[in-house]
Parts: sequence; structure tokens; C-alpha cells
Amino acid sequence: MLSTSLVNALKEIFGEEDVLHGTRVLEVYSTDASPFYGKALAVVRPESEKEISKFLKLAEKHGIAVVPRGSGSGTAGGAVPENAVVVDMKKMDRIEVVPEDMIVFAQAGAIISDIKRELEKHDLFLPPEPGSVRIATIGGFVANNGSGKRGLKYGTIRNYVVGMNVVLPDGKVVRIPGKTHRVPGMSCQVFVGSEGTLGIIAGVYLRVLPAPRSRKTYLIEFDDAGEMVTHLTEILRHLPDSVEYIDERCASLLDFSEAHYLAVEVFGENRVLEDHLADLNCEMLEGDEERRFWERRETLGAEIARKGTRIYAGEDFAVPFSRIGEFISSVREVEREFDAEVYIYGHLDTSNLHPAIVSESPEESLRLAERLYKLAIKLGATVGEHGVAKRWEFLKGREIVRRLKYCLDPTGIMNPGKFGV
Ligand SMILES: Cc1cc2nc3c(=O)[nH]c(=O)nc-3n(C[C@H](O)[C@H](O)[C@H](O)COP(=O)(O)OP(=O)(O)OC[C@H]3O[C@@H](n4cnc5c(N)ncnc54)[C@H](O)[C@@H]3O)c2cc1C
Repeated sequence: MLSTSLVNALKEIFGEEDVLHGTRVLEVYSTDASPFYGKALAVVRPESEKEISKFLKLAEKHGIAVVPRGSGSGTAGGAVPENAVVVDMKKMDRIEVVPEDMIVFAQAGAIISDIKRELEKHDLFLPPEPGSVRIATIGGFVANNGSGKRGLKYGTIRNYVVGMNVVLPDGKVVRIPGKTHRVPGMSCQVFVGSEGTLGIIAGVYLRVLPAPRSRKTYLIEFDDAGEMVTHLTEILRHLPDSVEYIDERCASLLDFSEAHYLAVEVFGENRVLEDHLADLNCEMLEGDEERRFWERRETLGAEIARKGTRIYAGEDFAVPFSRIGEFISSVREVEREFDAEVYIYGHLDTSNLHPAIVSESPEESLRLAERLYKLAIKLGATVGEHGVAKRWEFLKGREIVRRLKYCLDPTGIMNPGKFGV
């Protein structure tokens, strides 16, 4: 519980309307897309770095735990507060494109698809594209070091962060402007993947690329996962722009024949790759046909959810390339022991697989998810792109994270209970 005087102090900083306290809305902010639940003491909605700074000074002085939050679409519990004040960043959503420098500045609460739309107006392009592109904020994407489509060739969002405005836990505002495509030193990169544990990202400068002049997608059908994996290795060697996978169950949900599919994006031309694909059972999609395919693909999450209760646990793994086939067949073996169905899809150019668990019983799904985490560890996999937060058994080099945390957040107010530090 926050004392009345602290609630009043929050209202002084943010204004009456932007402090949510003592309302049922706090329940929404007590969880995110993960199955974890916590407790939000209050929610504040800043409109400026100055407000964040004043608030963090207050929080540090009174030892109040703070959880930054974008859209709450992370699936590792990163935005779940444990008796903390949640900082909802979505009011800070300004986007400024600097076309001549191929740079975009976006405040942390800007939605990723809005940034992409602004860039399109200038024939520019930000390659990483999460499935949650229409809901997730850029602050959450950077804080999770998210990825999505196109990781092999274009990297994760980390590769695009060239500057940042960040508010440290003691309220100090640090501005690292990004005007070029080079990032000297490590300063702002430390916050990429920090999942709200080191400070609040207020805005980011991203380098962006010229938009592809032309694009097409090759849709390749395989009878089984084994055959798909055999061809995947060869396809990846030709550096495709992206490779997305759907298994036979996902395929039938999208009204394709019950087979395994790879969708391979090619921007411009990639002669060697395209010659190779021509020998496979594949269809080339361009223009409206291609657009319609990706729009349909975007509905997959909703289609899966229609099959039963879907919990976002045990569904985000980066698997060694050499073990993708084994991972898929092992998931099927594990699934047989449970009263649940698993729909497998993912970004195979970064070997990131999403086994989506659906069942009538969330408890059954959670038990199955735990088995998948164990399986992942056995196969040398790690959690993929949706955050680490409460799945810290996958966090490597925890000693470095612990020391960094102590340096930047000595009183430990930022997102406690995450990373196991
Ligand atoms: C259907 C679905 C599909 C998805 N597909 C993908 C995908 O393809 N690729 C991918 O990478 N992810 C994917 N995700 C996961 C998730 O959407 C991403 O990690 C996303 O970037 C999180 O953004 P958010 O705004 O929802 O952040 P939140 O979930 O609100 O927060 C995520 C973490 O970042 C911290 N944080 C948020 N904002 C700030 C800030 N301003 N400063 C400091 N810390 C902050 C939070 O404390 C938390 O730890 C998917 C999720 C869902 C539900």
C-alpha cells in the first residue's frame, strides 16, 4: 500500500488523471502476456523525461519499487510488478524521422508499427519485425532486445540502437544523441536487453535502412519437419532476408494444406538462392498476393487462441541450428504425455521456435511448458526474444548483470525480482 502522502506526491508530479490508484485497473497492470501475476501499487503515466526524473528521485528516496511498462506483451513476466509502481510509457509516443541521416528518434511509448509507417513515408525501413509489431512499444522492444523476422541477415533491434535518452534510478537524465550509424562506446547499449532493471528508457535513436526496392516471398511446402530441416541449412547459407516456419497444424489453421511450410523473403534479387528454391515445391508470391499472405500469417496467433486457452509459457526458444529437427520432434514426444496441443512456428533464420501450447486447463499447459524449458536446456537452447525476466535460469553471465545492476541501481528499486539479481 502506498501512503496517502505518497499518492499525493505522485499526483503532484503527474497530475490527478495520470496516477491510477485504488482502482481495479491495477489488476491489468499486475500481469503481462506471461502467466505471472504480481501486484501493482499504483500506475503513473508520464508525459516527459522531467516527470520520470522527479518520480524516480521520489521512488529512490522512499525505497519504492518501480516497473517500466510498454504494452505488457512480453511473455517472461518482465513487466509484472511485485508490490511496485508501474510506469506506463505509452503517452510518450513522439516519432521524428531524420531522412537525410537515415535516423529515427522515437519516444519509448511509440508503437513499433507506427514507427515503421512513418519510415515508409521516406522510403526507409527498420528490418526487425516482431509478431507483436502492432501492439509492442519500441521501449519494450529495446528493453527486451527483441527481434522477430529477419534476424539472420539484419540482426536484432540492438543492431539499430545508436542513441538513447534514459533516466537513471536516482533521477538523472542521460541523453546520448544518435546522429550517425556508428555507436561509439557502450553507454546506451548497456540498456538494450536490460528489461527495466537499470533505468527507464525515455527515447531511442535508431539507424534505419533504405526500403527494399522490390520484394517477394517464396512459400515452400514440405511433407515433414525432417525434410524441411534438411533444406533449411542450404537456404540459410544463401543469406535470405527472412525465413519463417509454420508446422502442419498452423498451416491448416491458415487454410493451407496440412504440411510444413517455410516462407522465405527475398528483397531485390538473390539469384543463387532463388535458383535453389526453384528446384523445390514452392510458389513465388509478389505484390498483393504476397501482402495478403503476410496479413494472413499475422492472424496465426488469434487462430491458435481460438483452439482453446493459450498461455504464453514455454513458447519462446532459440535452439542451436543443428538441433532444430530434434527440438521439433522432441516437442511432439513430450506433447503426447499431456492433454494439450502444441502449434509450432517461428523465425527459423534465428532458429527461434514458438511452440504455442493450447489446452482446456492452464495448469496442464504450465506443466507442459515446464517440460519444454527442461527440454530446451538439455538441447542447449535458450529463451529467444520475448524477454528473460523471471526465466533467469537461461541468463548467462549473471555475475556481470549483478555488478552492473549494483552500479547503476544501488538501492535496487528498478524492476526487482527479475534476472535473479
Ligand atoms: C503474440 C505475440 C507475439 C510476439 N512476437 C514477438 C516477436 O516476433 N519478436 C519479439 O522480439 N518479441 C515478440 N513478442 C514479445 C513482446 O511483444 C516483445 O518483447 C515486445 O518488444 C515487448 O514490448 P512491450 O511494449 O509490450 O514491453 P513490455 O512487455 O511492457 O515490457 C517488456 C520489458 O521491458 C521493460 N520496459 C518496457 N518499457 C521500458 C522502458 N521504456 N524503459 C525500460 N524498460 C522498459 C519492462 O519492464 C519489461 O521488463 C511477442 C509477444 C506476443 C504476445
